Amino acid sequence: MTTSTRTPTLAQLTTLRVGGPAGRYVETSTEAELIDVVRSADDAGEPLLVLGAGSNVLVSDEGFDGVVVRDLRTGVTTPDHSACAGVTVAVPAGTPWDDVVAHAVGTRLYGVEALSGIPGSTGATPVQNVGAYGQDVAQSIATVRTWDRSRGRVRTLAFGELAFAYRTSLLKRSMRVDPSDPRSPWSPTPRYVVLDLTLQLRVGPLSAPIAYAELARALDVAVGERAPLAEVRAAVLALRAGKGMVLDPTDPDTSSAGSFFTNPLLTSADAALLPDDAPRYPAGDGTVKTSAAWLIERAGFGRGYGLPGPAAVSTKHTLALTNRGGASAQDVLTLARTIRDGVSAQFGIRLEPEPVLVGTAL
Ligand SMILES: Cc1cc2nc3c(=O)[nH]c(=O)nc-3n(C[C@H](O)[C@H](O)[C@H](O)COP(=O)(O)OP(=O)(O)OC[C@H]3O[C@@H](n4cnc5c(N)ncnc54)[C@H](O)[C@@H]3O)c2cc1C
Repeated sequence: MTTSTRTPTLAQLTTLRVGGPAGRYVETSTEAELIDVVRSADDAGEPLLVLGAGSNVLVSDEGFDGVVVRDLRTGVTTPDHSACAGVTVAVPAGTPWDDVVAHAVGTRLYGVEALSGIPGSTGATPVQNVGAYGQDVAQSIATVRTWDRSRGRVRTLAFGELAFAYRTSLLKRSMRVDPSDPRSPWSPTPRYVVLDLTLQLRVGPLSAPIAYAELARALDVAVGERAPLAEVRAAVLALRAGKGMVLDPTDPDTSSAGSFFTNPLLTSADAALLPDDAPRYPAGDGTVKTSAAWLIERAGFGRGYGLPGPAAVSTKHTLALTNRGGASAQDVLTLARTIRDGVSAQFGIRLEPEPVLVGTAL
């Protein structure tokens, strides 16, 4: 276990590169150490922030006056090789997610190939049920082993208990002051600290059926067809790079938290009020999903909006708010509020932020 003598700022620990100092910063390299840090902070009544790669958080300029803990464990093991039901892959939380995808593709396991290039740790993937290009991680998760801070014990949550939905889960909801209210402020520490998870992947050289039109076009296949795993991974990485959605320290368009707003889920009555050419996708239970990027662009916030300021919309993708160098958390929040309010004024739809906001609110 390493406790930093010089405490870093959250700007140094996050991809948006904003946020003030951490009270105390601890890196752990075993499960026992991680649990010990969490339990000690809880016993002492100290605020706790569990951080992976910091690619989905926006921390205030005041920083975080408590313990920031990061799990450094990595690895991918396959305890179960029974190929009929697929292969079980076990991964400790600290493992970079893209290493897991690369391992799966390299060993002819399919189910997560469209999630190539998503930054961050594996432990964070079930938190917001990461998704891209027609896949989400919930489709492949069997169990998530956690430290349940409320009960003070290890608890394994099965797929059915995790209540996965679009960019959320039981784990993310547990971070709300009122878990039943999606607009309730963040607490921001999770009730469940993810220790490791098991994925259930299928065996074969081809991908799962391609479910996203842009990816199908890039692969020159029809939606619903399958393609060689390595080709799918390469196509996804190329598409993502073109949108600034693969981290690149030399490219300010990637200094972001990925998509800053989630795609709004509307009732069919509200969706009927959208302009005719607005994208609409059935989202189950009579709800309709529309595109946050489309709304943002139509409300007048195109690529590069905000330049030459320190915080601006990415020049490659309207959903990413970026730090062009030297932006404060306040700069990013001001930009986000301007966009949210502009979309609300034009379409009557309130955009919700995707990253977890620590010590601040939109
Ligand atoms: C360029 C870019 C592109 C992105 N593209 C996508 C995309 O295509 N799809 C997508 O869904 N997301 C995307 N994201 C968002 C982000 O990569 C994911 O949400 C990722 O899973 C966050 O991982 P992390 O380790 O960085 O989490 P962090 O940002 O460190 O943490 C995020 C939240 O999870 C909690 N958390 C982290 N680890 C644990 C743990 N072990 N136990 C409990 N809680 C934990 C944190 O407390 C925090 O609340 C993108 C981000 C960037 C910067």
